[in-house]
Amino acid sequence: MDDRPPKLNDSDVASRLTPATRLECRICWYVYDPASGDEVEQIPPGTAFADLPDYWRCPQCDAEAEKFLPLDD
Ligand SMILES: [Zn+2]
Repeated sequence: MDDRPPKLNDSDVASRLTPATRLECRICWYVYDPASGDEVEQIPPGTAFADLPDYWRCPQCDAEAEKFLPLDD
């Protein structure tokens, strides 16, 4: 772990994230699943949303990561 500030501006949302949390894009409904990663940005499977690189954006609509909301299972 390092001391980077949370990627998400809403700290309440960030505090709900777990390494397995899937998040849905509010713009296009793309779902980021940590178990699958993201082939577009060459994110390997098993990468938690909080560990995505700062440049990561929605692969479908280019929305910023902060536009994503956690999905409740
Ligand atoms: Zn999107």
